[in-house]
Amino acid sequence: MAEVVGLRCIRCQAEYTDLGLVKGCPACLSRGLPTNVAVEYDYDRIRRSFHPRDALAGPMSMWRYSDLLPVPETSAVTMGEGMTPLVPVPRLAKRLGLRELYVKDESRNPTSSFKDRLASCAISVARERGARVITGSSSGNAGAATAAFSARAGLPCVMFTTQQFPQAMKAQMAVYGTKLLAAPTVPDRWRLVEAGVDQLGWFPVTVFVYPLVGSNPYGIEGYKTIAYELVEQLGHVPPHVVFPVGAGDAFFGAWKGFDEYRQLGYTDSVPRMHAAEIFGPLENAISQGLDHVEETESGPTVAISVGLNMSTYQALHVLRATHGAARSADDQELIDMQIALASDEGMYLEASSVLSLVGVQKMVAAGDIDPAQAVVAFLTSSGLKDPEMTLSHMNPIPTCDANLESALQVLRDSYHFDGRGVAVGPDLGGDS
Ligand SMILES: [Zn+2]
Repeated sequence: MAEVVGLRCIRCQAEYTDLGLVKGCPACLSRGLPTNVAVEYDYDRIRRSFHPRDALAGPMSMWRYSDLLPVPETSAVTMGEGMTPLVPVPRLAKRLGLRELYVKDESRNPTSSFKDRLASCAISVARERGARVITGSSSGNAGAATAAFSARAGLPCVMFTTQQFPQAMKAQMAVYGTKLLAAPTVPDRWRLVEAGVDQLGWFPVTVFVYPLVGSNPYGIEGYKTIAYELVEQLGHVPPHVVFPVGAGDAFFGAWKGFDEYRQLGYTDSVPRMHAAEIFGPLENAISQGLDHVEETESGPTVAISVGLNMSTYQALHVLRATHGAARSADDQELIDMQIALASDEGMYLEASSVLSLVGVQKMVAAGDIDPAQAVVAFLTSSGLKDPEMTLSHMNPIPTCDANLESALQVLRDSYHFDGRGVAVGPDLGGDS
């Protein structure tokens, strides 16, 4: 593990020795600029004791990088999260006009989303510090991950949610023995978490301060491993990385990982990191030249996991530090991309996840990304989290009689398929 020496404000750089800050920087908050804090280590000490090649002998999980995390691997609350595959997607690359496109498939995590990195690291810290109750506010992936890792840690979890969200996510949140409570509204959820934190000493994992600052800073440390894994898997720093961004926890965490590697001298650059959004709060902040993020107009969206009309300073900081772009997408673009990724490459990801790929498409068109350069799109979660949404955009399954003639007739009528496929060679897809 790396020894934590303090927490530092991302905006004003104030350093705090109170390691229990969970509502962001008090100084910035008092000026009306809510901002998260980030965990600080003794980097000289890390440089002397760790080299990235040491991680290769570690477990096949994000804890192979525990030398850069706030908890030792031996006391981590873990189920093998992280070390998700980096998959080349040559057919989709061709469709988008790119030479080299990879996806980091976070649906391969224990609860099928990237939030396992957050929950594993935050709840490991919580258990080390003797926390008695874990809490959070979520109607989806963060709730499932927090619930699962609380169960794994043997700690009770009180999770505030609302009634409107997909069945699959409800089942997933409930099954771990979570004390699940539906509050009237989303802001009510946040206030209830805050009351539990302030009055009962509960340990928060997810966002709960509004205007948003981001999630628990120790949880965000878990997201640094995305950067370490990408460097390990590619053998170098990719030129472009695109994330679906809501509160920007993973976006900031991955940037912190790249930045630490550069500061420690293990790499010599940081990628340009780009944000794909639904309602465009970061795009708005960048185009207006703001030093904070403002709410934008919102409406219903299929991107339930990332459909925020607000973001955070931590996300804006990454865009500014890496000269990243922010672009928005609509529901139809997400559904089309979800189907394209599944039918081109055999990968079924949540609509919110493929937002990064729609972002890539828009950034290439806008000139933000040079299509000759390699791009990594971060895919956050499994399509099985919300199958009803996908099914509502598919044709009903056609019926055939119990003979091949009938089957062939239906194949022709419904799929324009004559029953004779074409042979495919190993080079099809055009990545050679
Ligand atoms: Zn500050």
